[in-house]
Amino acid sequence: MGGFADLIRDVPDFPKPGIVFKDILPVLSDPAAFASAINALSDPWRTLGLTAVAGIEARGFILGAAMARELGVGFVPLRKPGKLPGQLHEVAYALEYGHDRLQVQRDAFAAGSRVLLVDDVLATGGTLVAAAELLQATGAELVGAAVLVELRALGGRARWTCPAPLHATLAY
Ligand code: AMP
Repeated sequence: MGGFADLIRDVPDFPKPGIVFKDILPVLSDPAAFASAINALSDPWRTLGLTAVAGIEARGFILGAAMARELGVGFVPLRKPGKLPGQLHEVAYALEYGHDRLQVQRDAFAAGSRVLLVDDVLATGGTLVAAAELLQATGAELVGAAVLVELRALGGRARWTCPAPLHATLAY
């Protein structure tokens, strides 16, 4: 995968004891690795008629915005509460370490939008499933979901029951 896999760092006991955090930031700070990660993330979706990428706060913004540019489509942020102005849709969910909510602006997607969800890591799957629910509330069509890293032992893929495909660039 163009060498970027070697740059993903395991950080034990972050942000809580027992969690092995996958730190992707060294991939972003290396220009060649960043480019090859964005290419690998984008490749499965190039011919599927996407109109937008929706990135999950916060690392999903970085990967998702770069993918949107690579794919020539728009970018929409799915944000934590209190950040977005205007009328919103909201979903609450549980994650590997705590609870959270995601919001999106009600008018973020034009009618007929075909959207790809993006995040950095798939762990238990709670975040991605919640993001798919949120997207459904907007009326946009979910074309698929892309993550850079899937942590197989945490079973996130089994919770992804959407018919839209879920693609992980790397799986551990
Ligand atoms: P989950 O909802 O359990 O699939 O958790 C996924 C979300 O939490 C993603 O937005 C990740 O950025 C973050 N996350 C969960 N577990 C990890 C991990 N072990 N390393 C890095 N990020 C993680």
